[in-house]
Amino acid sequence: MLVGLENEGAMGDDLQKAAGVGAFTLHYQPMIDLRRGCVSSFEALLRWEVTSGSFVSPAVFVPLLERQGLIADVGAWVLQEATRQLRRWFSVGGASGRIAVNVSPKQFERHDFLATVESALLASRIEPGQLELEITEGLLMGDASQTIAHLKALRALGVRIAIDDFGTGYSSLAYLHRFDVNVLKIDRSFINAIGYDVAAEKIITAIIGLAQHLGLEVVAEGVETEAQLQFLQQAGCDMVQGFLLGKPRDDWDLREVHARNWGIF
Ligand code: C2E
Ligand code: MG
Ligand code: MG
Repeated sequence: MLVGLENEGAMGDDLQKAAGVGAFTLHYQPMIDLRRGCVSSFEALLRWEVTSGSFVSPAVFVPLLERQGLIADVGAWVLQEATRQLRRWFSVGGASGRIAVNVSPKQFERHDFLATVESALLASRIEPGQLELEITEGLLMGDASQTIAHLKALRALGVRIAIDDFGTGYSSLAYLHRFDVNVLKIDRSFINAIGYDVAAEKIITAIIGLAQHLGLEVVAEGVETEAQLQFLQQAGCDMVQGFLLGKPRDDWDLREVHARNWGIF
């Protein structure tokens, strides 16, 4: 269960303690490749359990971590743990595929961010191409020289870059041309509107077309119904992610994941 933050001040203190004692965990949500009908990637989602079974949403506490200057440490832990999990899955289930990690702008812009990524890759012994960093449009619009340098260095290393929540930020097409990104993740708000809002459907179709023309992969986030899945399949979307396919969980049995018929050929 996800809960809200009633008192930011008190929560801030708790958050500081949580960061100190490592009270965070990661849950993983599969992304399904629609053409191959299999899981191609997992997204790591940060969890903070405040009381047994109650989690505060990262949408609420990540901004707080940023304000408290804790995001770099927690973010570095997320990178280490998520890449380590992919390595663990390799050893039990002969897993292939990737791990996707959300990176906040404050973390990405830090001078030591590249070193943090390199150290996670080194420790986990996964290939750079198996790590996908999810960033938001706002970061690219900032146009800071540190951001540009990091993006270039990460791509030179072979790390993949995804634009999260695509379509909700500035959606400037100039940066797609300028930066070497790999994936567009269509925001859940558009997927939600499938079947109700023709304009949203047209936007989804246009984003998929744009991605195809630019040679980018496209992922639909927040797929909850069969009707949404069907629309996305027909529109030529590469990958889907959402409660219909699988909710975020703390662990997955990779043998079961690979044996399962995802039923979406
Ligand atoms: P996001 O990266 O866009 O992640 C997708 C969010 O949608 C997740 O919420 C996920 O649990 C939820 N979701 C997935 N499928 C469905 C669905 O079918 N329906 C609905 N209603 N929701 C769905 P969550 O885990 O609460 O994360 C919220 C946001 O917090 C993330 O959005 C991401 O921006 C941020 N976040 C999560 N983990 C991290 C992290 O490790 N570092 C940073 N910097 N941010 C993180
Ligand atoms: Mg994400
Ligand atoms: Mg998103």
